Amino acid sequence: MIEIDRELARLEEAGLYRRRRVLDGPQGVRPRIDGRELLAFCSNDYLGLAAHPRVIEALRDGARRNGVGSGASHLISGHSAAHHQLEAALAQFVGRDRALLCSTGYMANLGVISALSGRGEQVLADRLNHASLVDGARLSEARLRRYPHADTGRLRSLLDDARGSASLVVTDGVFSMDGDLAPLPELAEAARTAGARLMVDDAHGIGVLGASGRGTLEHYGLQGRAGQDQVPILVGTLGKALGTFGAFVAGSAPLIELLIQRARSYIYTTALPPAVAQATLAALELTEQETWRRERLQALIRHFRAGAERIGLTLVDSPTPIQPLIAGDADTALAWSRFLEANGILVTAIRPPTVPAGSSRLRITFSAEHQEADVDRLLETLAHLPRAGAAKQGQEPVDA
Ligand code: PMP
Repeated sequence: MIEIDRELARLEEAGLYRRRRVLDGPQGVRPRIDGRELLAFCSNDYLGLAAHPRVIEALRDGARRNGVGSGASHLISGHSAAHHQLEAALAQFVGRDRALLCSTGYMANLGVISALSGRGEQVLADRLNHASLVDGARLSEARLRRYPHADTGRLRSLLDDARGSASLVVTDGVFSMDGDLAPLPELAEAARTAGARLMVDDAHGIGVLGASGRGTLEHYGLQGRAGQDQVPILVGTLGKALGTFGAFVAGSAPLIELLIQRARSYIYTTALPPAVAQATLAALELTEQETWRRERLQALIRHFRAGAERIGLTLVDSPTPIQPLIAGDADTALAWSRFLEANGILVTAIRPPTVPAGSSRLRITFSAEHQEADVDRLLETLAHLPRAGAAKQGQEPVDA
């Protein structure tokens, strides 16, 4: 049994203690935290829709029409017309036969992997996949085998080893802590050749990548029917670029039917508030219509990367709004985060176990609501980051 006090002391000593920050007001690029306005570069509200007036109005209208709670799980009596309409809109958006709404991305991943894999089978996962994909594999009781990050060659040999037992290959589309993309065309080819299924969690690609925001698959030209053939299982979340809450799985009609029958994290939980589904419909419309948001994001990313290079920062090869600065040890990441906050900028330090040991970092993210001048202010401050070793002084640590 865990010794609670000792474990807390150990985390503090190792620089791994996590503290929550309390926002007073909406998410955005200038949140109020502890009575102070900060310039933030760490939310996943990439398109700036979380507090968009049209999304807020849709939520308000949805609550008036449908109340707040859905009152039951989808299979009992909690599946409302708003959910149904959103599922159809999401399926159309990603060009698939059907989509299934789930209460969170974490639950979608748990439900899909455990519904599709079981004992005697294998789940093959990129080493940097999101924790929910790892936990889904553990829950499934299939054998979890991890291949080195984006290493399709290693994946192929694991698939060869596994010949004879069913395999599910799972990957993030955009890696959540690094911002780089999975090599989807090669992964799809490897999976198809071996008769395995491929599942992509595009939590950070949906809304952001591709000219129309259809995500990492659109980035690779894999949308529509070709996409469904190559990547039969697609998960997207609604709490990031879409600015609301929840998640979806998209794929063939039989896949979705099977999930409705078997995905326990779908079956045994209360449906999302229908007003959230209605708000998400509004957010989806904005995502499709307001292409300037993606263009602005890309311009900000280019501006940041060029400026970071000028001041000698080492960047990860990321074409997305996730632009990490690797600090190495947890104390350095915390020192950087504190230094930024002392200068009015919020970027939380990300430490193990969220990222591998020795790769603690600042996970800088951009939003379409940022201005170029905001990025300049960030760069100016980053140019004066303290060096390693300064961590133990100063204010309370902050964390993700
Ligand atoms: N997948 C990935 C890649 C994620 O980054 C996250 C959220 N951090 C999730 C799934 C979980 O989504 P949700 O927050 O909706 O549970």
